[in-house]
Amino acid sequence: MTKIRTRYAPSPTGKMHVGNLRSALYEFLVAKHDGGDFMLRIEDTDQERYVEGATEIIYRTLEKTGLIHDEGPDKDGGYGPYVQSERMQTGIYMKYAKELVEKGEAYYCFCDKERLASLKTEIVEGKEIMIYDKHCLSLSKEEVDANLAKGKPFVIRQNIPNEGTTTFHDELYGDITVENAELDDMILIKSDGYPTYNFANVVDDHTMNITHVVRGNEYLSSSPKYVRLYDAFGWEVPVYIHLPLITDENHKKLSKRSGHSSFEDLIEQGFVTEAIVNYVALLGWSPEDNCEIFTLDELIKNFDYRRISKSPAVFDIVKLRWMNSEYLKAMDFNVFYEMAEPYLKQALTKDFDLKKIAAMVKTRIEVFPDIAEHVDFFEALPEYDIAMYTHKKMKTDAASSLEVLKDVLPILEAQEDYSNDGLYQALVKYVEEKGCKNGYVMWPIRTAVSGKQMTPAGATEIMEVLGKEESLSRIRKGIALLENA
Ligand code: GLU
Repeated sequence: MTKIRTRYAPSPTGKMHVGNLRSALYEFLVAKHDGGDFMLRIEDTDQERYVEGATEIIYRTLEKTGLIHDEGPDKDGGYGPYVQSERMQTGIYMKYAKELVEKGEAYYCFCDKERLASLKTEIVEGKEIMIYDKHCLSLSKEEVDANLAKGKPFVIRQNIPNEGTTTFHDELYGDITVENAELDDMILIKSDGYPTYNFANVVDDHTMNITHVVRGNEYLSSSPKYVRLYDAFGWEVPVYIHLPLITDENHKKLSKRSGHSSFEDLIEQGFVTEAIVNYVALLGWSPEDNCEIFTLDELIKNFDYRRISKSPAVFDIVKLRWMNSEYLKAMDFNVFYEMAEPYLKQALTKDFDLKKIAAMVKTRIEVFPDIAEHVDFFEALPEYDIAMYTHKKMKTDAASSLEVLKDVLPILEAQEDYSNDGLYQALVKYVEEKGCKNGYVMWPIRTAVSGKQMTPAGATEIMEVLGKEESLSRIRKGIALLENA
């Protein structure tokens, strides 16, 4: 069996969106699942769409996500160059385009803008498409040569007959047959000499020995034209795997405008790389046992492209947040702390033991920016409603809380050891003397020291972080509030 070779072939046109990341990941997994090679090819022939810095984003993202390529512009594997503009310099596209012209599978077209503008158009998939009328196909060899000698601008078009059908195979969609009359004579070489994506992908995938092509299903409708090119050259067609559309929650195509769709945006929003990769793997693929949490190595082991679904995948930020929280819970504490620290420092300017606070929030947040709302009360006691002292299950109300707070104030004033354990023992002693439940005492204290209904830790842990002076001041404030009510 030949070794599987896949390629991620991004166009450097901006950020790396979730859809791009999924293509890269699936290409990587298809290769690695079978011990194959994963290659990076930069498709920069569309000069108008080129965005400065986009190539760096691609390298950065692949490295960070662990989708390490075996070959690429920075790692020669004998199939270079790996950047299409550099491949063009070698004359490869023109050479193969001319070969097609020789074979009658392509032809020179000298039609100018005005003539093209006068041609009929058709609406295909919502877009207005010009149908070229094969005008230049009838030029004689002499006429073509004369035009070329004069330096007349030209493009080279694929020659697709008006009769018959073309069939190609996709691993997920099966055999697809289209009427040739529906296929346009697409441009292979543009007037600037650059190949179109449509031509370059075929020449490159063949000459770079690619066995499996994994890409978005927006390329499905052009695939018959690619297959005709392979056939015209007498080349073996690669295995095609076209991936389902990714939509947003409203089942609309995921757009660049919905801010959460690029990898770097997601990192900025506080998601961790492993969770993003894990989540993206499930955008169209699911394992047999419906397990959801996978490391990259586990994905390599379990990924079977035959289980990719044809139905659109919904990018669900709520689900991604859940998955992220699972990764945070499982994360080594020191790694977590390093990532959480900037968020803690932004929320808390006073001299707190941030490690203790990090340990409190680790299992409670979904993404790092959630930290602020969980810890803000440490920085400053919020205004709160004394109704919070009333808790049915704890059997507390304003009057019982006032009594408890007044009782524990002298105990906490006398207490020297403000560790969680020390405070707990002192308060439990009071609980025992009083013969009540823990919550009856702890609830009012926690309310007084936090001013919040929900806190990431209990009363004594909070007081340990706040320290004696601040804890006492908050308890006194609670007493005053309750007394004035
Ligand atoms: N350059 C194309 C893109 O970025 C590649 C498509 C393909 O994988 O063939 O969409």
